[in-house]
Amino acid sequence: MDMLIGGKHIAGDDREDVINPYDGEVIDSVPIAHLQTAQLAIDEANKSKESLVEMSAFKVSNKLFNVVDKLRQHKQEFAELLTLEVGKPINESLVELDRSIETLKLAAEEAKRIYGESVPLDAGLNGKGFFAFTQRLPLGVVAAITPFNYPLNLTIHKIAPAIACKNSVIVKPPTEAPLTVMKFCELLNEEFPDGVVNTVTGYGSEVGDYLVCSPDVDKISFTGSVTTGMMISQKAGMKKVTLELGGNDPMVVLKDANIDDAVRGVINGAFLNAGQVCMGVKRIIIENEIADEFAEKLVGETEKLVMGNPLDSKTTLGTLISEKAAKQVEETVNNAVKDGAEILTGGIRDGAFYSATVIDNVREDMDLVVNETFGPVAPIMRVSSVEEAINVANNTEYGLQAGVFTKSYYDAMKCAQEIEAGTVFINKQSTFRTDNMPFGGFKNSGVGKEGIKYAVDEMTKTKLIGLNLR
Ligand code: NAD
Repeated sequence: MDMLIGGKHIAGDDREDVINPYDGEVIDSVPIAHLQTAQLAIDEANKSKESLVEMSAFKVSNKLFNVVDKLRQHKQEFAELLTLEVGKPINESLVELDRSIETLKLAAEEAKRIYGESVPLDAGLNGKGFFAFTQRLPLGVVAAITPFNYPLNLTIHKIAPAIACKNSVIVKPPTEAPLTVMKFCELLNEEFPDGVVNTVTGYGSEVGDYLVCSPDVDKISFTGSVTTGMMISQKAGMKKVTLELGGNDPMVVLKDANIDDAVRGVINGAFLNAGQVCMGVKRIIIENEIADEFAEKLVGETEKLVMGNPLDSKTTLGTLISEKAAKQVEETVNNAVKDGAEILTGGIRDGAFYSATVIDNVREDMDLVVNETFGPVAPIMRVSSVEEAINVANNTEYGLQAGVFTKSYYDAMKCAQEIEAGTVFINKQSTFRTDNMPFGGFKNSGVGKEGIKYAVDEMTKTKLIGLNLR
């Protein structure tokens, strides 16, 4: 597939294969863009800005709704491509498609709600006799840099609100899985003027870095790892930046919890997308009294997962994004075992597959839970009180989301108030998101919020106009 810049397809000189992690087959290839090509995309996006600003909100909204219809018509095709390039089970890809359609729909609706407010200057000293109001204006050019794990929906969380508030966009899709995003940008380009949406493929450290440093890009909207996010925040200068970064989300299970609900929460939270989820359950912090029963039930449910061809609808556990990624998870788990942890089930790697793994007696100082482990691993950490559970939950540089299982509203509120995370769910695992909610972490998990309305806030600037009527 070729890049889309200023409405034209650009093939580039050098290309890189996109590999199916399940069978190692080449799916397609994409250009490795040079810096001149990234600059061309910046120029085209800047040229197209006016065309979007002149378009009525009514028309922007209708055009986004047209893309919603097109994506719905091509849902199956997009889901299959997503499964091929990411290795996620087809049923999970279909869910990502449903959510992508929903995210786009929310943006089409939001395009009609971008307005300011009247401001009573007379409430301030010397303000009597003025009439003042604010306008919300587009920033100009937004660069969207996105990760491999939910490439389509996470990219739509950037492109759709950006266009809804009339910004042009340059998308740098993930290197490992760029195809679904590029195909989606083609749909957008059928509706919007050339240059409103552009794609630049290649290496993050080259073209991604170039976009981040360019004075002609007005905003960086990034989702990815903490390491890359920190680099971006240092280099972006005065431009606005939103960073949606990694997570190390706790699931706190207190002794009065419904154990079956908590077990289901881990199955859906730690093993979804082979554990490659920013808000995945990465640490189970459980009170001693119920830990043995919980572990036994969790092992039973984990062993029911079906590993296999991700295109087969019976498969519930697909591959990781690459064999290299699977080896990294294997090494981290093995190190925890050398250090005293005990594998209750799983722990086996086969190419890019890593079996769903439950690992007990994990301590706070083990790498497995100090850093974000991006694989299908459920580490159990046993504690003896609510207070200890909260301390363990907060003992991390991350703070994306958290889940707490208890029947006590007192303990639920204590945990909700004291756990440092952007979202705390009670009786639900952290791995839950609706596409309209404010989403974004505390601490090193990020800066700013997404969830269409909140992303629009971060992609507009506010101008005040005051009329002196004295
Ligand atoms: P990554 O940071 O390696 O890459 C993300 C994107 O950044 C890719 O497109 C990459 O090419 C680009 N990039 C790499 N170096 C760059 C640079 N120097 N300048 C600019 N761009 C650069 O992340 P990944 O491995 O693709 O994704 C996994 C990570 O993303 C995990 O940490 C996960 O938790 C996180 N994530 C966070 C969220 C969230 O919403 N908080 C959602 C999904 C994934």
